[in-house]
Amino acid sequence: KIVRIFVTGAAGYIGGTFCFEMLKKGFSVLGCDNFSNSTEIGIRKLQKRFPNFFFKKIDLCERKRIFNLMQKNKIDTVAHFAALKSVPVSEIHPEKYWKNNVDGTKNLLEAMSKNAIRYLIYSSSAAVYGNATVQPVQETYTPNPESVYGKTKVECENLIKKWSINGNKAVVLRYFNPLGSHEEMLFIDNPFSDHGNVISSILKTSFGKSEFFPIFGDNYDTADGSGERDYIHVADLIEGHFAALLYLEKQNINYDIFNLGTGRSTSVKELIKKFEEVTGLKIKTKILKKRKGDLSVSYADCRKSNKILGWKCKRGISEMCLDAYDSVKKNLDEL
Ligand code: NAD
Repeated sequence: KIVRIFVTGAAGYIGGTFCFEMLKKGFSVLGCDNFSNSTEIGIRKLQKRFPNFFFKKIDLCERKRIFNLMQKNKIDTVAHFAALKSVPVSEIHPEKYWKNNVDGTKNLLEAMSKNAIRYLIYSSSAAVYGNATVQPVQETYTPNPESVYGKTKVECENLIKKWSINGNKAVVLRYFNPLGSHEEMLFIDNPFSDHGNVISSILKTSFGKSEFFPIFGDNYDTADGSGERDYIHVADLIEGHFAALLYLEKQNINYDIFNLGTGRSTSVKELIKKFEEVTGLKIKTKILKKRKGDLSVSYADCRKSNKILGWKCKRGISEMCLDAYDSVKKNLDEL
């Protein structure tokens, strides 16, 4: 049984949700974060509720401190969520993204090796596939990222692959488009920050923070002309991590990669329609020009994760939209 897990990016949307769900299961969790894209609010919620939650404010680039933290604590497994994740911002500040995501991961792996910590779960992204010509995309597709962000994720995967020898074991999880919130809705993806994904733009419009929702291109080669993506409820995504933890522990592997998506594509127009249906709100939209680099369709081939991890998404688009909306409404005064 895994005794203690070290979670990087523990104050963030997905890392925080993962901590909460692990703690609920009775595991001990040590978290770290530098709050570059989060606040202490989430950490306080965890500390208040769970005596088996420990936290250190630390930046992954602080090599010595990361090493010391690992040396002082009894850790079996690392779940590595910490990263800067905005695709457009990564184009503006490539060096910052490279340093944070890649150098941070290097430090982490080095500290793990020196302290004989052998299990790792890594948050990768569908961004590694770039403009994949074959859809749904399989894990075997050769990464070809378009963005600096996607390139940092591929580089981290490569570093992890190299690290996973001599008894070290790693699972890379490539997330598609996570949204919504877990049952207690303590952790959410702040839609008013600047990452600009589809659901955040819909939420911004629904909370009056922007006048309309921009649909970038409605003449794609898709059923209704708008782009199609694979949206996944964060609660399903977290269950994928539990399956991956079991897999790490039980299977005799060094390194493996899994897509975490539903295996279904949903168009932007369909997503808006569902959002309006479940919330009863009207979202004003405006058709704008296609953006350079945007794909028409991107969705996951999930056969490998379904079969080998024994994991499958349970939640549909309606639930995702409703939970995304309700969780923002519930946490509005903290945003
Ligand atoms: P998030 O920004 O909410 O959480 C990341 C956390 O890491 C933040 O709290 C941030 O302060 C922290 N952090 C960043 N750099 C750090 C550093 N150097 N040292 C310490 N802490 C640092 O993002 P999220 O949505 O929870 O994403 C988690 C992971 O999942 C990331 O690796 C991201 O690339 C990946 N991912 C996210 C999505 C998505 O749409 N949310 C999709 C695919 C992959």
